[in-house]
Amino acid sequence: MYTEKKVSEPAVSADLHKIIRIRHLTDRTFVIRLERGDMQFKSGQHIIVGLKGELDQREYSVYSGENDDYLEILVREVLDGNVSSHLKQCKEGHLLQVNGPFGSFGLEQFDMFSRKLVFIASGTGISPFHSFIRSYPGIDYTLIHGVSYINEAYERADYDPGRYILCTSKESSGGRKGRVTRFLGTFRVNPDMLFYVCGNNNMIYEVYHILRDKGVPDEKIFSEVYF
Ligand SMILES: Cc1cc2nc3c(=O)[nH]c(=O)nc-3n(C[C@H](O)[C@H](O)[C@H](O)COP(=O)(O)OP(=O)(O)OC[C@H]3O[C@@H](n4cnc5c(N)ncnc54)[C@H](O)[C@@H]3O)c2cc1C
Repeated sequence: MYTEKKVSEPAVSADLHKIIRIRHLTDRTFVIRLERGDMQFKSGQHIIVGLKGELDQREYSVYSGENDDYLEILVREVLDGNVSSHLKQCKEGHLLQVNGPFGSFGLEQFDMFSRKLVFIASGTGISPFHSFIRSYPGIDYTLIHGVSYINEAYERADYDPGRYILCTSKESSGGRKGRVTRFLGTFRVNPDMLFYVCGNNNMIYEVYHILRDKGVPDEKIFSEVYF
């Protein structure tokens, strides 16, 4: 049986946070580092971000760890997207409106150190897993990351190479060719595993089917849908 723990809920705040630094990882993907202020969150939660004074705001998972003294998000620009394309134009020193944290996509409700955790991400869906891994050193994880091209293996040096599996759908060298769902078909599951899936809805839907076919009960699958 699972060891149930009460999930503590940090207070929700709405504030302006200054951009300290921006790391461009590809032409379209970047990490925005913000002053943390007094924002408390649990890894796996997301914040709602917008430009100062703008009504349009979007959800972004927190990429940084619970103990970092800054707040980071990993953003992929959606071409002509109302918010992400404007975030890409931001510079250090600009202020962003940040609300949150929100959500319950977390590891807290389990005895996370006694479980085999399988994290399955497409694209920037790796963000909450980056936060888990920074926040909880010592967790027993396998991270399966699906991207189109190798250069989208965002900051892969942050992961244990023996635990990080890259699946590239449009490029054959440097990872396993094909989508995460193809790799998952060959993946051996065992009853100790908990599965966390994050990214686009189609991928998550397919992953549920594959895991169910392998006998994984729904109570052991947790998901966060981005779009
Ligand atoms: C809980 C949650 C957490 C999220 N965390 C992240 C995150 O950590 N990083 C991140 O980059 N995004 C994340 N998103 C997606 C993000 O909130 C926005 O939807 C995204 O940035 C596009 O917003 P936009 O205003 O630029 O585009 P919009 O003008 O809102 O929409 C453009 C279109 O693009 C589609 N779309 C949205 N996201 C993508 C995408 N990544 N790739 C392709 N098409 C897309 C939408 O369905 C829509 O049809 C998250 C979403 C949710 C619900």
